[in-house]
Formats: sequence, C-alpha cells, structure tokens
Amino acid sequence: MTSSVLPGGRCPCFSGDSYPECCNRYHRGDALAPTAEQLMRSRYSAFAVGDATYLLETWHPRTRPESLELDAGVVWTRLVIERTNAGGPFDHEGLVEFTAHYRGDGGRGRQHETSRFERVDRVWYYVDGVD
Ligand SMILES: [Zn+2]
Repeated sequence: MTSSVLPGGRCPCFSGDSYPECCNRYHRGDALAPTAEQLMRSRYSAFAVGDATYLLETWHPRTRPESLELDAGVVWTRLVIERTNAGGPFDHEGLVEFTAHYRGDGGRGRQHETSRFERVDRVWYYVDGVD
C-alpha cells in the first residue's frame, strides 16, 4: 500500500504537524480525539493511509457498517475544513463541513460533505454525513 504521509513526514490531514504527533496518535490509540473536528481529521487521515479498522472503531455503533472496503485506487490528496458547529470537548454533538480532494482512476475529484458527530462517554463518533 502506498503511504500517504506528506513530504517531511507531515500528517495527511494538512494540519502542518508531523503525522506521529497529529492523527497517528489517535490511530495508534494513544489518545482520544478531543473534538469533532479532530476526529474528522483523523478519519480523513485514516482514509489516506488505509486504516479501515480505525474508521470502523470511530463509527457510531448505530450507523456503523459491518465492514469497510477502502478503494486502493483512490489517493486522498487534500482536506479542507469549511465549517464546524459545536463538537467541542463539552458538547455532545457536532457538525463538520469539509471538502476532501482525491485522485482516482477517473482523474481528480472532490467529496464535499457535512458530517455529524456524537460524543458518547467522552468519545467522539462519526454518525453520518450529507453532501
Ligand atoms: Zn492530522
């Protein structure tokens, strides 16, 4: 599998931080994403590095699929967070609107989504998203 860590070892989520100090902390299970936006970033990075287990673990049990096949032909190239609503350390729900850019067999594309997140026992989960 191709690694999607950015040049200089920077995190795929475009935070500018190194991958081990950014989303990889959450992928490894060393820390919990404190906000809905951080969970969103770490899930995007999980798509970028092909970590389906993390994607399933951070999916709300109510909406989680049985399994997840990542499309190996898609390379995620950039994440732009457009807007966030709530989703802070003291909230129970949050929204994150983003555009994710990718390169696939059919050329370049982008996915725009507003994702809903819920926090259960201090852990943020992805619930679902609309275009
Ligand atoms: Zn990151």
